[in-house]
Amino acid sequence: MQSENLKIAYFSAEIGFTPNVPTYSGGLGILAGDHIKAAADNRLPLCGITLLYKEGYLKQKLDPDGNQTEDYPRFHPQPILRPVDVDVSIKLRGRIVNILVWVFYLEGVSGHTVPIYFLDTDHPENDEKDKSITFRLYSGGKEHRILQEAILGFGGCAMLDALGYQNIETYHMNEGHAAFVTLALRNKFDNDAEKVKQHCVFTTHTPVSAGHDKFKTEMTRKVLGDLIPANLDCSIINGELNMSLLALNFSRTANGVSKLHGEISQKMFPSFNICSITNGVHHTTWAALATRETYDKYIPGWRENTDLLRNADAIPDDELWHMHYENKRRLLDYANAHMHVGYERSRLMLGFARRAAGYKRAMLLFKDPDRLSRISDGRLEIVFAGKAHPRDQLGKEIIRNVIQEANKLFGSVLITYLENYNMWLGRLITSGVDVWLNTPLRPNEASGTSGMKAAMNGVPNCSILDGWWAEGCRNDVNGWAIGGTEDTGDDDADADSLYTTLEHKIIPTYYDQRDKWISMMRESIITSADFTAQRMVNDYRKYAYKC
Ligand SMILES: *Cc1c(COP(=O)(O)O)cnc(C)c1O
Repeated sequence: MQSENLKIAYFSAEIGFTPNVPTYSGGLGILAGDHIKAAADNRLPLCGITLLYKEGYLKQKLDPDGNQTEDYPRFHPQPILRPVDVDVSIKLRGRIVNILVWVFYLEGVSGHTVPIYFLDTDHPENDEKDKSITFRLYSGGKEHRILQEAILGFGGCAMLDALGYQNIETYHMNEGHAAFVTLALRNKFDNDAEKVKQHCVFTTHTPVSAGHDKFKTEMTRKVLGDLIPANLDCSIINGELNMSLLALNFSRTANGVSKLHGEISQKMFPSFNICSITNGVHHTTWAALATRETYDKYIPGWRENTDLLRNADAIPDDELWHMHYENKRRLLDYANAHMHVGYERSRLMLGFARRAAGYKRAMLLFKDPDRLSRISDGRLEIVFAGKAHPRDQLGKEIIRNVIQEANKLFGSVLITYLENYNMWLGRLITSGVDVWLNTPLRPNEASGTSGMKAAMNGVPNCSILDGWWAEGCRNDVNGWAIGGTEDTGDDDADADSLYTTLEHKIIPTYYDQRDKWISMMRESIITSADFTAQRMVNDYRKYAYKC
């Protein structure tokens, strides 16, 4: 990649592009990785910028009662990442902070490579307090968060200058975490706000206002000193700097990550124009081994052109079934080996894996355990996974509750909770279960990319009509809708709808109508063509990057 050709810099507080580099926590980071991979496939002149978290997010351990504890194994960046010989520093808390830069060159299917830069404050000359700024993802308090976001925004822009990237036309901020980019550019462009605005693009991911980063103005000024301008009024509400507002004030375009989420975001920020670009997942990352082999054989060219997934009709029924059986075998082997559980391949298996957050309602399935047990009648297996943030007591309680309910159903519904959900397990589970379950409180699920991963592997979704599924669902054709399109927030009604669908649609189709089931698997693959990262990045190119 020649520096004069680079046009787009993509900033994200986390980028998850391989399970081997633990610099992500979940959906946001993995989406960023998928975005960059599809950019490499599509030959976009883009680079990624993020932080190097040497102690990652967390490694989860669960005891038999469901109590989560965390470890922080140290990640050694070499040889996976390479050091970049460049001097970068910024002034924070009145001290110079030196920033080490590491790079990974990601190669796309086209042979085009895209660099991902990792910023690291663990520099031998830094004050001890500054060395640890980038150790862990989402770890400290507010001040620590400001420091990390300053390294990303100000440090990232300083790095681009130091590397000699002179022709960047678009600075893409993935979530408000990256919004200090706008202030770094204000300094670079001699306070020309209009010029900053011409260069920035913002993607918001959070449909609830509490989810947006807000920092006390006084604290922000103390940390950032003269990096920030005297007048920030347009981005301050009640004495707090709102990072999403900051990004919106200085961006030429802004978008949410599904149609529904775009509408919610527009209502949240009525004085801005917010459109939507629905998320997608990177095909060769999320298609499991047997899936890739099957598509290579029956849908040649799908690696270069994901639209061809619409040709899933070319896969014979028995081959499709065999592909899924192979994916399922791998998941069951893993689960049985780790949990001594005795999962059996011929039984219908549901999967539910995601961050333990209240709105995702992992407990909805257990609203009426007796009814679940009756419906199952020995025919259901369920696998759960997902981490809680170390300081999120509510999230930890959700995990405890799920595991305790699972223990109570022992002998009637086989349920396990797999430890340490990560990208590797994500692919294993989304490809290996028979049905992917998602029960968020509408409209809180901005997109829900795990469901797209399932669909890409021919696994039908059963989900609340939220996020991507509000666009992708064709009820009883490629999966099932739980509830309707109103934001009722009625747990009882949603649970009832889930149980009814399980009993009268999912279980009978699985056991008695194999042909229809396979047709639903095929329709899932066809639907997934609309939810690939390739389609997403093409949309960004057209509507946001304009290149
Ligand atoms: C895909 C993925 C996510 C995001 O899934 P959601 O559907 O948004 O909850 C989170 N964590 C891992 C490990 C994933 O693979």
